[in-house]
Amino acid sequence: MTATLLTIDLDALARNFRFLRDTAGVEAAPAVKADGYGLGALAVSRRLLAEGARTFYVARLAEGEALRAALGAGPVIQVLDGATAGSVARLLEADLTPVINSLEQAARWRAEGRDRPLTLHVDTGMNRLGVTLAEARGLAGREPVERVISHLACGAQPEHPMNGRQLAVFREARELFPAARAGLASSGGIFLGPDYAFDQVRPGVSLFGGGPRDVADERIAPVATLEAPILQVRDVPAGDTVGYGGAFQATAPTRVAILAAGYADGILRGSHPAGAVWFEGAIRPMLGRVSMDLIAVDVTGCIAARPGAMVEIIGPNRLVDEAAAAAGTTAYELLTRLSSRAERRYRGD
Ligand SMILES: *Cc1c(COP(=O)(O)O)cnc(C)c1O
Repeated sequence: MTATLLTIDLDALARNFRFLRDTAGVEAAPAVKADGYGLGALAVSRRLLAEGARTFYVARLAEGEALRAALGAGPVIQVLDGATAGSVARLLEADLTPVINSLEQAARWRAEGRDRPLTLHVDTGMNRLGVTLAEARGLAGREPVERVISHLACGAQPEHPMNGRQLAVFREARELFPAARAGLASSGGIFLGPDYAFDQVRPGVSLFGGGPRDVADERIAPVATLEAPILQVRDVPAGDTVGYGGAFQATAPTRVAILAAGYADGILRGSHPAGAVWFEGAIRPMLGRVSMDLIAVDVTGCIAARPGAMVEIIGPNRLVDEAAAAAGTTAYELLTRLSSRAERRYRGD
């Protein structure tokens, strides 16, 4: 019995980590939120710890607690949501560092956090999370700020003028906290040049195989491979349709393979009509709509198309950025939608 299989290559993850760290030339602190971009935060973080990572970023408190339990004492775990109401006791209990996003959070941490150091997120123009530069001035010299971070809105677009504007604001912010370590760049920012590196970078998607510019990049190793077995092969005559809504109609006799994978496995419905898979040495189009449990692909002329044969849906021959683009989205969304239904295997453990 062959199962739908998600293979996570931890050696490729480690190569990406080293490449990103060496490109930046400073500490690389992995972003492992959303269950490590869908690939299993605990497994990937254990490997990254073994590769030398000492600081990890998660979004939610519960993600931080699970990571602390898996990694044990030692590594710094930063919670991007910050010191939200009711969270301080749990942050302290699990020895998590809140990334303080507002004056309200700063006051809460001061009141309940017993002078423990904090990371300050300064908004430099993205207008998502963070204190303003003016608010940061008010905190300077008064708070035990150990790290100061900000986040780029357009780091994946090197030519975008917003990068330079955010960099200028961030330089002002970091001067307010001369003793703090500073970090601005995520995957995209690492490739904007040394001005953007500061003391620490926070790569996420490019650790996990996504290009830093939202397109496939040959310097980044594929990490996730999603394969599904063929369940059935059928010959569809010209004029017949395939799947729900009859959304694909054969214009010629077509050999169709039905695969044991669908949107419940993370194959986005938006993959219709541009989606494709890799089989027998070539890209083969998906046919018709993605169902919950099944997709159909064109295997006309393939001699190996028979029940049980494995088809690559994402992997070294169908890069996550390409599969995402065909579905009208990014590697970020595609990876984080990979579900727990497919059997998971870690390679290089
Ligand atoms: C998600 C996130 C990152 C990682 O971003 P990538 O683009 O995936 O490299 C870094 N910093 C912050 C604040 C984030 O939210």
